Amino acid sequence: MLLYDERELVRVNCLKMLEKGLTKGTSGNISVFNREKGLFAISPSSMDYYQIRPEDVVVMDLEGKIVDGTRKPSIENVMHRIYYVEREDVNAVVHTHSTFATAVSCLGEPLPAVTFLVRLSGSYEVPCAPYAKPGSEELARLNFETGGHLNAVLLESHGLITAGPNIDRAMFIAEEIEEVAKLYCITRAIGTPKIVPKEMMGF
Ligand SMILES: [Zn+2]
Repeated sequence: MLLYDERELVRVNCLKMLEKGLTKGTSGNISVFNREKGLFAISPSSMDYYQIRPEDVVVMDLEGKIVDGTRKPSIENVMHRIYYVEREDVNAVVHTHSTFATAVSCLGEPLPAVTFLVRLSGSYEVPCAPYAKPGSEELARLNFETGGHLNAVLLESHGLITAGPNIDRAMFIAEEIEEVAKLYCITRAIGTPKIVPKEMMGF
């Protein structure tokens, strides 16, 4: 099977995303890139994560053509693909609708450094890309223009996207940024959060 290892990584990490509480139902999507072959494996659209088999994961090329698989790829495949086209250091992308990151995205504001762990995004804050229709080229473009050079971006009124050199790292960043977003929401509810100054972030 073409890109078996990457398809299996997508399958397993979709389950992890669900079990870690980073998504619900069939929302969110994951892709893993094979740089040597110039192909990426991406989760299928609207499929129960517990039902996904490696062959249900779709293989696409960098022009957006389906190379292998019978399922429809995630509608956000353009948003994933742009990272593999534009960044040489990214080999995995995770997109979630995790509750607290999405809550902050609904403010249309960046997630500030309520703890130093925001630095996992590659910046002193996680920027928020303006809203665009899910699955649109415009969403992919706005996301990449806003924070494509970083490891994490909020999508206004939608969710979070993270990128990493491998899937473990992209998942770790998604989990940690969700945790920071949770602390930010809690601290805003009980008072005014203190924000870690840029120079104290520990870069
Ligand atoms: Zn989404």
